[in-house]
Amino acid sequence: MKRTKVKDLLASTQPMSDVTAKGWVRTFRNNQFIALNDGSTIHNIQCVVDFENTPEETLKRITTGAAVSVVGDLVESQGAGQKFEIQVKTLEILGDSDAEKFPMQPKKHSLEFLRDNAHLRVRTNAFGAIMRVRSVLAAAVHQYFQEQGFVYVNTPIITGADAEGAGEMFQVSALDMNNPPRNEDGTINYKEDFFGHQTNLTVSGQLEGEAFAMALGQIYTFGPTFRAENSNTSRHLAEFWMIEPEVAFNDLHDNMDLAEDFIRYVIKYTVDKCQDDLKFLEGRLIDEEKSKPQDQRSEMNLLDKLNFVLENNFKRVSYTEAIDILRDSTPNKKKKFQYVINEWGADLQSEHERFLVEKHFKSPVIVYDYPANIKSFYMRLNEDGKTVGAMDILFPGIGEIVGGSQREERYDVLVEKMRKIGIDEKELWWYLDTRRFGTAVHSGFGLGFERLVLFVTGMTNIRDVIPFPRTPGNAEF
Ligand code: ATP
Ligand code: MG
Ligand code: MG
Ligand code: MG
Repeated sequence: MKRTKVKDLLASTQPMSDVTAKGWVRTFRNNQFIALNDGSTIHNIQCVVDFENTPEETLKRITTGAAVSVVGDLVESQGAGQKFEIQVKTLEILGDSDAEKFPMQPKKHSLEFLRDNAHLRVRTNAFGAIMRVRSVLAAAVHQYFQEQGFVYVNTPIITGADAEGAGEMFQVSALDMNNPPRNEDGTINYKEDFFGHQTNLTVSGQLEGEAFAMALGQIYTFGPTFRAENSNTSRHLAEFWMIEPEVAFNDLHDNMDLAEDFIRYVIKYTVDKCQDDLKFLEGRLIDEEKSKPQDQRSEMNLLDKLNFVLENNFKRVSYTEAIDILRDSTPNKKKKFQYVINEWGADLQSEHERFLVEKHFKSPVIVYDYPANIKSFYMRLNEDGKTVGAMDILFPGIGEIVGGSQREERYDVLVEKMRKIGIDEKELWWYLDTRRFGTAVHSGFGLGFERLVLFVTGMTNIRDVIPFPRTPGNAEF
């Protein structure tokens, strides 16, 4: 029989007879009260079992984790909390769950334990909420760009191009690695590989995205991205989802405006649509804060933090200004940073980024115009000849959430930069074509979707906001 989702049952305006609900048992109390969840909402619906007329055998099988179907009347609830409950008339066990062995008993599990059970952790309240919020955020991403007339472009996942040149790529090969074809000097002969040359999983769709922006005007990608990151941090995954808009005729400042407007839009959309889940996640965080010493507790709760972003412009500072701030705030007598910035040209470490955001500005910050030699070759050289039109957006608790730039549109300057760092023009001939035929000012950015989900859910480890995290040593299923 057709079921009604728990979310809709709880939102009903009136009692109903003979409704069907299906879901998984969270708890079963006093041989009578089932807390049933079907994933449509953070809330469970209470199903009251007529235990006197239900066989003992069936009652025993109502265990945590079991899948059940109930038919009964939706009646006003006498107890506190919810408006409605189901007075069960018939109950069917769809799938038993051995409660002794079921790992997701309703108690507080450590996040580490839950990570080892990625296939079951989604049955907990917290992960159900995170996954619903993630889904709504993804919808918001498409909604924003579609409303603004961007074209959604699917850039390739297998590619011969290395956009970042950082050597963090996973290679793709169809060769028999036990017995690969070899060149005379013993190296593997990739000419005989599936594509006839070396290929890898994409680290960014930007270069291909640029080519499409130079025809379609405004495009965005939103797809999986792969980086063989050696670092085992709470902000890096080996497989993550990246959102990359690219816009013809936009300069760096248009780019910052777009990024800021976009982030605000998707957060607002999600806050509006996910009140219950966000309130639940906020409550979870408040409990966590209470267990910390007073002086280490966060001053703002989750929804305050989200509203702050909605109501305040991000602070914008040039790299040079940022360096001055960091220098001035590093008194000799006290060592504030592990790595002290002494000179212009050094890259910002995450401790500096966090200082700017969390201590100095107390707001998201956009740092722009970085030294050319610490940024990628495709970023536009400024008139000073030493900085490029790059921008990073830094968020509290996270650090870099966006990396973007105005792209170098001048053929000669681009070729010169590529030569300097040893990128073969022949390898990127197609990319250079975009500068040979109708080049124009353009810019774009990459936003790591999971870092956005981290911020919106208030979680602190990126492994906890993606269904099946891939990290070093971790891709079993
Ligand atoms: P980071 O400095 O944090 O390593 P990055 O500068 O290497 O990031 P970019 O190449 O600028 O990253 O990529 C654009 C965005 O993609 C980043 O701002 C970040 O939000 C996200 N991102 C980059 N690497 C990862 C990763 N390994 N896991 C999750 N998100 C990532
Ligand atoms: Mg990186
Ligand atoms: Mg970075
Ligand atoms: Mg970056």
